[in-house]
Amino acid sequence: MMLKRFFCLLLAFALFFPLCGRVFAARNVMTCDWCGKKISSNASFLRSEDKNFCSEKCFNQYAESLLPVCDVCGRHFKEGFTSDGKNYCSKACLETSFRECCHCHRREPSGVIIGENLFLCSYCKELPACASCQMPLDKFAKDLGDGRSICRDCARDAVSSQSEMDSLMKTLRQELADKFKMRTDHDIKYELCSRNTLKKESDRDGERELGLFVFNRNTLTFFNRPIRSKDEFRILILNGLAPDFFRGVAAHELAHDWMQENVPHIDDPQMREGFAEFVSWAYAKEEKLDRVPWRMEQNTDPVYGDGFRKVRDMMGEARTAYEWKKILLKACPAPAGAK
Ligand SMILES: [Zn+2]
Ligand SMILES: [Zn+2]
Ligand SMILES: [Zn+2]
Ligand SMILES: [Zn+2]
Ligand SMILES: [Zn+2]
Repeated sequence: MMLKRFFCLLLAFALFFPLCGRVFAARNVMTCDWCGKKISSNASFLRSEDKNFCSEKCFNQYAESLLPVCDVCGRHFKEGFTSDGKNYCSKACLETSFRECCHCHRREPSGVIIGENLFLCSYCKELPACASCQMPLDKFAKDLGDGRSICRDCARDAVSSQSEMDSLMKTLRQELADKFKMRTDHDIKYELCSRNTLKKESDRDGERELGLFVFNRNTLTFFNRPIRSKDEFRILILNGLAPDFFRGVAAHELAHDWMQENVPHIDDPQMREGFAEFVSWAYAKEEKLDRVPWRMEQNTDPVYGDGFRKVRDMMGEARTAYEWKKILLKACPAPAGAK
């Protein structure tokens, strides 16, 4: 998500300064409103608005005290910047309010947050990025052969074999059952695939699609009469994802599988994808997969991002699939006669 576009306003603080002080001769003994010294009669003094000053120095100090204070260094200043309700006396002080880019290490006013304490400046976020962690790529990037590349860190332990996927999925299903009582006994076929395969299977043309849940009800016929249906369950996930991201995607797809069993009538994409993202988010939070929840919280997509936030707010404190189902059914009642 873009940070709110930054703008700074050069303040016309010069308006306050100088206050006009006019010189008078005192008629009777007065007190300096700045230093408190007595001003004897006939001595010259300065007057500004309703205040009296024994000297130009006192008047100048008073005038300076009316100037805004820098929120960083505490200096009073005439011309400076204001941003988000704070005052900055100089560019150097203003820059302390910028976040440091985790890639180029410059402090920049705008960019995207890609993880806890991970900020990418608007320049670095345009660089070719790792298909797994979104960090800009360097010369050590690994080309996955389908238009994607991953960074060295992700390549080191990326999920790249079918057996690895199978064992991760088995563990994950158990974890979802233990943590959230979310389980199905569907015989799901897992497929670790390239982007081209995923694109072919998916009806969304999203470049950013990472996984897919496929359900098919195949009706078998016997002498032209339907006799029973054999349901087909598949989960496809892109190869080359770092394990944390893989688990985040897998939790999303397993949530679709659970929905197919429990709330198959829900066809509003925002609810379907929002709930799947919510499950993945809740799982990632518990497992401390740091950067996964951030992706969802920052996602501006109207289906995935807005859907996630809508479902998260709807679920409140509910933490089991049993409660989630009740809430989903209340929001989207099943049509009469449906399971
Ligand atoms: Zn004085
Ligand atoms: Zn300052
Ligand atoms: Zn940068
Ligand atoms: Zn990476
Ligand atoms: Zn989905």
